[in-house]
Amino acid sequence: MKSTRLFSTCVVRGFTRYPSGHKFHNAFIVLSKGNVQLGRMSVNGKLVYWFVTRDWTPQDSMVSNDPKLIKQSTMKALLGFPEVELELIRNGDLDNLFLTPLRYRAPWELLLLQRRRFIQGAITVAGDAMHAMGPFIAQGGSACLEDAVVLARCFAQLTCGIDPQTREWKMMVQTAIDQYVKQRRMRVVQLSTQTFLIGTMLDGSSWKLAKFLCIALMAILFSDPIRHTRYDCGQL
Ligand SMILES: Cc1cc2nc3c(=O)[nH]c(=O)nc-3n(C[C@H](O)[C@H](O)[C@H](O)COP(=O)(O)OP(=O)(O)OC[C@H]3O[C@@H](n4cnc5c(N)ncnc54)[C@H](O)[C@@H]3O)c2cc1C
Repeated sequence: MKSTRLFSTCVVRGFTRYPSGHKFHNAFIVLSKGNVQLGRMSVNGKLVYWFVTRDWTPQDSMVSNDPKLIKQSTMKALLGFPEVELELIRNGDLDNLFLTPLRYRAPWELLLLQRRRFIQGAITVAGDAMHAMGPFIAQGGSACLEDAVVLARCFAQLTCGIDPQTREWKMMVQTAIDQYVKQRRMRVVQLSTQTFLIGTMLDGSSWKLAKFLCIALMAILFSDPIRHTRYDCGQL
């Protein structure tokens, strides 16, 4: 398959420890200013998870290797955010600080790629290798689990009871993989379209017209923005 593409947005993720307890409520909070977004969620009374999305800069390839530089650049991006949030980042744990560029596989590739691009003999792709997507609707990992369920079910239904030494078994393995790709394709096209539209809207380098088109497409295609959470990939 072709390699994945990059949004011009990146994300910094970290944890902050509060040995004597923090005062944040047990809620998922997202604050935005321009192209910068800060999200935080308490893990327990003494630990808070947070992320910051911002534009990727040419220096970030170097910055991403040094947690101190990651923290510095994040503080800079957050200028103007409330002091309590700045303190959260300032006290962040340097051992668990990551700066990641955001990659995605284009939804139109997932829709249009020929079946043979997903399959080679008895080998196929699953998870991010098949459908890397921006984290904007937090479904990438969940989609990987769905892949695993569907792939295992296709194998179980078609190969169970057949001798693995036979030609029939080989054919059934290929049919199972075919069915898996067929069953997963439209689901991952939908998820990756939604994340692509949101990612393009948040992307600082997107043209105004592109952002406008994305807003219009979101309203038409994803008028219920949490419909994807009601999807059922079926029993194992
Ligand atoms: C910032 C961010 C936030 C996210 N938030 C969410 C969320 O809230 N909810 C959600 O569901 N998903 C989320 N995701 C997406 C989720 O993390 C991924 O979709 C998921 O981890 C992909 O799993 P995977 O097993 O396909 O790939 P990976 O997790 O990338 O695992 C692949 C593994 O293969 C290893 N590997 C690579 N090459 C080789 C090789 N040649 N030999 C041996 N090993 C190799 C890698 O080291 C890695 O350990 C987020 C992603 C990002 C970047």
